[in-house]
Amino acid sequence: MTDTILITGSSRGIGRAIALRLAHDGFDIVLHCRQRRGAADDVADEIRLMGRQARVLCFDVADRDAARETIESDIEAHGAYYGVVCNAGITADGAFPALSDEAWDSVIHTNLDGFYNVVKPLVMPMIRRRAPGRIVVMSSVSGLMGNRGQVNYSAAKAGLIGAVKALAVELAKRRITVNCVAPGMIDTDMSDERVREEALKVIPMQRTGTSEEVAGTVGFLCSPDASYITRQVIAVNGGMC
Ligand code: NDP
Repeated sequence: MTDTILITGSSRGIGRAIALRLAHDGFDIVLHCRQRRGAADDVADEIRLMGRQARVLCFDVADRDAARETIESDIEAHGAYYGVVCNAGITADGAFPALSDEAWDSVIHTNLDGFYNVVKPLVMPMIRRRAPGRIVVMSSVSGLMGNRGQVNYSAAKAGLIGAVKALAVELAKRRITVNCVAPGMIDTDMSDERVREEALKVIPMQRTGTSEEVAGTVGFLCSPDASYITRQVIAVNGGMC
């Protein structure tokens, strides 16, 4: 049976590129989005044309009950996953003194709690497979360096690095690797033109990255070639830090 990987936030942007890359690499794919079901269905169609299986789950990663119920019933119907890529994320930028409670809460709930809400219901079934597995979590250069106007986002993305390092230790002897990918400035819907202009000044390669470049790193981490790589943060940022 072909191994299956769930990629959260795969209706567009980096997640979509990861889904296509992993399908190309031979995995069956569980796509996921919050509300753009049509976009995720289009990605599923592309993947089926590649000869791989694809299905779509829709839920808000910040909604613990919805995440648990949806993932548990998907696993019950189709079996445990080989891997998960926790990619869904948002920003809500603002200078700290003016940052709203809503901007703080939504970014922490989606990016950091979202990791817990998604990984918790699928990790025990992964362990019970008694086979190698992969957990890849999307952090950010913001979590490594701290970015102006992103105290909330930097906190969430740095928190993910701590969570990954601890979970990697817990799962190491089960042959389930747990790693972070930390992209720099990647061209997607999330990119802000003003931030992009500023970022170009501090990117040694003097260009933004593509979703496909991030997806390539995730593809490697999910492959057998990365079987001895765990508890790591791999930056994909043109040399920013
Ligand atoms: P996009 O904004 O292009 O896409 C975000 C994806 O996440 C969409 O599929 C969206 O679903 C989904 N999503 C957002 N919020 C939720 C939620 N609450 N519940 C479920 N799904 C949700 O983002 P990118 O592709 O740019 O970013 C992907 C990841 O990479 C994020 O974690 C981001 O923080 C990280 N990153 C991005 C960088 C960049 O420069 N772009 C740099 C560093 C890190 P829907 O379409 O239904 O809304």
